[in-house]
Amino acid sequence: MNTSILAALQLYQYGLTPVPLIEKRPLIKDWSNRFFEQPLKQQDIINGIVDPTGKTIRYDNRNIGILTGKISNIIVLDIDDTSLLNTLEKMGPLPDTWKVQTNRGYHLYFNYDKEVPSMKLWDKIDILSNKKQVVAPPSKHPNGRHYKWILSPKDVEKADLPEWLVDYLIDYSNQNNLNWTSAKKSKVQSIYKSKTGNKSKDIEELLNSVDWVGFYSQVTSNIRGNGDWLSCKCPFHLDNHNSFSFNKHNGSWTCFAGCGSGSAILAIQKLFGLSFRQSLFLIKGEDIYV
Ligand SMILES: [Zn+2]
Repeated sequence: MNTSILAALQLYQYGLTPVPLIEKRPLIKDWSNRFFEQPLKQQDIINGIVDPTGKTIRYDNRNIGILTGKISNIIVLDIDDTSLLNTLEKMGPLPDTWKVQTNRGYHLYFNYDKEVPSMKLWDKIDILSNKKQVVAPPSKHPNGRHYKWILSPKDVEKADLPEWLVDYLIDYSNQNNLNWTSAKKSKVQSIYKSKTGNKSKDIEELLNSVDWVGFYSQVTSNIRGNGDWLSCKCPFHLDNHNSFSFNKHNGSWTCFAGCGSGSAILAIQKLFGLSFRQSLFLIKGEDIYV
């Protein structure tokens, strides 16, 4: 039997959804959706997958990829540089889990966690969750090197993502979703409840009209409490505790770990590098670049 088919069958046994690749790219049309509608069957691996045009796509002599995310119950950290793995290990303990040697680095496999979207960390580590795929052993990299298991499903159980890393990723993605591109801007603006066009409204009234819980839940995480002041992770420093507190009526804030305190306007200035005037425009829901 063909080694590619064998490898794919074995991956399938581990609960994964393997797909045939050409180099590093899936050969199946609409691969990120189709297996939700038509889950992969063992006989598809042996006989090939029939695509919508009626063409059969076979696994023989192909590189094999694995769909990541919910469909295979995996999230893969694609680390392109071994020094980045050291950086992660310094931030917190990484459990033993499925590990693949890639061309220049590693793939670490963890159980799927719905909190974690596909994203790029520090522009260098790909977090592969839903609608992504990863090249699997024993596929061959275009430069000739084979992907190989360092810790395979026979060696260790697949681990959960460590909690510290999930916390870090959530903070990181919240903050980075808010870099100031126009597409993201409209998303953030939509969480404000302020009435636009009422320019005579004074600042205090304006601040009291904003949904600050909605705002802070976009820029930080772990909001707790039920009084006027709620606690959460500080959006200004890497916070493992809830060092930050904000007033849910007017958005004023304080960080007990030393980032300071101030009005909601100051928080917006600090978060996005805006002037006082631009921050006010933003709160009013107006274009900040006028
Ligand atoms: Zn802080």
